[in-house]
Amino acid sequence: MQTGLFYSNSIVHMLAVQIMEGLFLRIFDAHCDVLWRMWENREISFKDSEILHVTWDGLKKSAAKVQCFAVYVPEKVRKESAFDVALEMIDIFYEEILQRFPNMKLITTKRDIGELKEGQIGAILTLEGCDAIGTDLDKLRTLYRLGISSVGLTWNHANAVADGILEERGAGLSSFGKSVVKLNNDHFIWTDVSHLSVKGFWDVMELGEYVIASHSNCKDLCHNPRNLSDEQVQALIQKDGAIGVTFVPQFLSNNSQASITDILRHVEHFCTLGAVEHIGFGSDFDGIDQTVQGLHKIEDYSNLVNSLLKYYSETEIRGFLFDNFYKRFPK
Ligand SMILES: [Zn+2]
Repeated sequence: MQTGLFYSNSIVHMLAVQIMEGLFLRIFDAHCDVLWRMWENREISFKDSEILHVTWDGLKKSAAKVQCFAVYVPEKVRKESAFDVALEMIDIFYEEILQRFPNMKLITTKRDIGELKEGQIGAILTLEGCDAIGTDLDKLRTLYRLGISSVGLTWNHANAVADGILEERGAGLSSFGKSVVKLNNDHFIWTDVSHLSVKGFWDVMELGEYVIASHSNCKDLCHNPRNLSDEQVQALIQKDGAIGVTFVPQFLSNNSQASITDILRHVEHFCTLGAVEHIGFGSDFDGIDQTVQGLHKIEDYSNLVNSLLKYYSETEIRGFLFDNFYKRFPK
């Protein structure tokens, strides 16, 4: 019984991958927390660890072409050590991912993405929360030099840049925060508003040149504070930003269990707001403990694609999976 089930699942998976390859679909995933997992547990191998949602083997099995890797310094780390921890995670990225898998290529420009050969997968370094830089712009410039191409201003709480969405005070950007956004603009770096307070969001809409929400869904469908209101979505469209629909069950459904149908509901809501050419996916794989039914790891993207194919055109799906983020990569 179990063996039969296994075969039928794997045949479905194979067919889905064949359809994706036939259509030459490519995936750009705007957020995962692999580096944090690998920093927490140095024994984990990026090749095929059972613990990880995103692995080298998984990326190869899926139609992944570009994967963003977040540097997320957990809140338990003392402030004075936060920059060192960010550097440790970046070291893991270079040593355990790029160095070990030569077909994994560091991406810092749009041209780098265009030049990826068959079999190569691009890796973008992103910062999730500016806690690591304290109040030093020189630290931020150092992170750019190491390859950081997108800067999330906060995690859920406050730092020197702004308040996060769960910080009761709800403050927007500090003066230092404004200089961070301006520096991102000057260096053609994405400013990522996922996790940011509502007031901070609107401050970024005023100041930011290259804005994204790497992993956020619609508040209208799921009342989690991490999600975006319709007005916020429209503002991101106006700024020509991109939004990564995320696979966090608590951000997809009000009862915290979620299916691929829930992802499609959010995709459709974004589309009705005019975001058909602005949405992509930011899985949050390895940042989540619970996963969406049928979408437990990177290679399961094929199940999502199969569902999308029922409702959207090939061009729209190409946009969601890849083009909408790719087109807006600022450098
Ligand atoms: Zn996050």
